[in-house]
Amino acid sequence: MRFKSLSATVFGLTLLVTGSVVLILAQQQVNPTTVEQVMPTSTQEDETPSYYQGTEISTLEQEDATQTQKQVKTGATAAARIDYSRAEPIPAKKSINQGLTSPSAEYMKQVLGIPGDLTENCSTVQDSRLKKLMVAQDVGPFKITGFKPAVSVLKQIFAQVKQENPQLYSQLGTAGMLCVRKVRGGSNFSNHSWGTAIDIKINQKLDQTGDNKTQGGLKALYPYFHKEKFYWGAEFPTEDSMHFEASKELIARWKLEDVGNPNPPSSSKYWVDTFPNAPGYSSPGKNRTGTLNKGTNYVFCRTKGPKVQVGSNYNNWWLKTDLDSGNPRRNQWVSAYYLKRWGNNEAKDNNGREIPNC
Ligand SMILES: [Zn+2]
Repeated sequence: MRFKSLSATVFGLTLLVTGSVVLILAQQQVNPTTVEQVMPTSTQEDETPSYYQGTEISTLEQEDATQTQKQVKTGATAAARIDYSRAEPIPAKKSINQGLTSPSAEYMKQVLGIPGDLTENCSTVQDSRLKKLMVAQDVGPFKITGFKPAVSVLKQIFAQVKQENPQLYSQLGTAGMLCVRKVRGGSNFSNHSWGTAIDIKINQKLDQTGDNKTQGGLKALYPYFHKEKFYWGAEFPTEDSMHFEASKELIARWKLEDVGNPNPPSSSKYWVDTFPNAPGYSSPGKNRTGTLNKGTNYVFCRTKGPKVQVGSNYNNWWLKTDLDSGNPRRNQWVSAYYLKRWGNNEAKDNNGREIPNC
């Protein structure tokens, strides 16, 4: 993880404000491991766990049958190929999903509504608001239909996997995302009913559920999903390690951000990767109001402001966004220095589009 090298360091941020050096901020970067250790462990939900029983996986989504796995040019030689579909023991349950909870069906209904009929097999989304939020998109290794914000996160995850582990990426497939239906043997909706969960295939093979083993590729994917607040089904009472779902914490964030609003001004949000946790301000370089956590975040627009410089890296652009913590959180400002993907004085979103001026 690239953050590790930074994590133990304390660095000074120099804000150059209109001509003279006015403000020096020292920011202690918290080691991510420490953060995970202090976060509360998952609390058990009272409701029946909303996990999906993998045995009926072939019926999950109609488009699966027609899905063709894309060939990816990895540049790796055949001799070095790792078979990521091989089974390994799952990690200790206590060691995974730290800080994340599997959202119960009751919680999902409360936040996103009742998706449709509680059927045994896949049925269509009935809720008109939810229907508008379902998208079919190419997320890299395959095309998938699901809840729009969840699909966006998948796109980010797979782009990172492609960059860091092309071999693993080339072996990724899916058994689907959206499927309105009951949990087998349960009485409530599976989280696939809202299109916020995905089942992953490795080398076109499904992992065996309930055997407390996982394909090596799923284990290798887990840190990418965990970082984006997706909960891993390896921890379910009946181990289901092919399954990753938007955690309760992520659903809560979507609720707060009103991502569920079917009619947002579509051009208003630009998705960016930021690191590390970035300080937020009431206006560029003014009063500190809170923090934007590292990860994939949205911003609204940019404006020029005081230069933020660390070593030879600098940026004059400031980005308007909603912070993760602090007061107030809405419409605050973060320096574009914290954009992970771009160089000095660049302010672009993850797709390489220039973020518009405010
Ligand atoms: Zn699943």
